[in-house]
Amino acid sequence: MNYQDFFRSELDQLRDDGNYRDFAELERHRGTFPQATCHNGPGEVTIWCSNDYLGMGQHPAVLSAMHTALDRTGAGAGGTRNISGTTHDHVLLEAELADLHGKEAALLFTSGYVSNWAALGTLAARIPGCVVLSDALNHASMIEGIRHSKAQKLIWKHNDLRDLEAKLAALPLNQPKLIAFESVYSMDGDIAPIAEICDLADRYNAMTYLDEVHAVGLYGPRGGGIAEREGLMDRLTVIEGTLGKAFGVMGGYIAASGELCDFVRSFASGFIFTTALPPAVAAGAAASIRHLKSSGAERAAQQDRVAAVRARLDEIGLPHIDNPSHIIPVMVGDPVKCKYISDILLRDHGIYIQPINYPTVPKGTERLRITPSPVHSAADIDRLIHALGQLWTQCALARQPLAAQ
Ligand SMILES: *Cc1c(COP(=O)(O)O)cnc(C)c1O
Repeated sequence: MNYQDFFRSELDQLRDDGNYRDFAELERHRGTFPQATCHNGPGEVTIWCSNDYLGMGQHPAVLSAMHTALDRTGAGAGGTRNISGTTHDHVLLEAELADLHGKEAALLFTSGYVSNWAALGTLAARIPGCVVLSDALNHASMIEGIRHSKAQKLIWKHNDLRDLEAKLAALPLNQPKLIAFESVYSMDGDIAPIAEICDLADRYNAMTYLDEVHAVGLYGPRGGGIAEREGLMDRLTVIEGTLGKAFGVMGGYIAASGELCDFVRSFASGFIFTTALPPAVAAGAAASIRHLKSSGAERAAQQDRVAAVRARLDEIGLPHIDNPSHIIPVMVGDPVKCKYISDILLRDHGIYIQPINYPTVPKGTERLRITPSPVHSAADIDRLIHALGQLWTQCALARQPLAAQ
């Protein structure tokens, strides 16, 4: 076999299907984010699609904690958690996370992806006869973890309580069950009916596993997520989150009972056999969590910017999904136009919004996923709306009648 030919032809296929991914090469500038330099593009750009939802990646408290820890402890952890890699900063961060979610314990992973993969994989594989009931729109990391466990999997229709209940009711009451779902879904920005799912879990004796990756830091009086906002944290068996999105750093975690965390700590390959996060990263994440526990200013400013962008889109009739979260999916509905608009926004307007096409979202629902943050100014919003309006006309895309809003 000619290996290079094989790789090339597979990539050509991807390009022909319109699924080849081009990365913008960015250099963010501390203190001026969302501005950044796009090295393979037009130079200075404004980022409108970052998951650094609150700008915590440049918050002085976070940077100061990281500088201090770096100077105090050095670069890396120097080992896996088991062999010399559990530093004081890791332990403090896990305590911060357990407290954030009102749980007995928390367990840190190198990313949210790894936390889902390892925790779901371990629970589903190790609990005898465990069936996983997985929401149809769950993130790839959850799907991979469940698949890896080789446990029986039942996929229930997205956010559909009736379908979930039908699937639960068809299983023997005493069979172990794990309901896996998210709070804020990242592409549509819709929110799961967590209380009702917990009711079903109680009725059918199931455990619950909630991915709050797009909610931690952003919702609830202390940034504990949607479950905190709705007073439901104690009803969930496992809450999973990331330190890489609203908290602005890197890493993932689960928060749960002491026994469950100890169980995953003891049996999860993806936890055990990998070098621990650098202590400076742990210290930065802890500082970010601590700040957002006591400060609601970033959350309020973000909600304010989200409302402003939505209102301005409505004024010019651009269709967007009206959801209850901070995620604004502007619907283009055509993969070529979606990519074209994104390209021209970048090239001619210095506005960076990655196009979201199939297979990330279903065909015909291609979109621009806009994530306003406290660090976007009124002038940034003006430029965004002006450019989108122009391109909408140029692409002959339909507008919503004003009366409909
Ligand atoms: C991004 C994401 C993850 C993975 O988190 P990382 O820390 O980026 O690895 C997990 N779940 C969902 C829903 C996500 O969007």
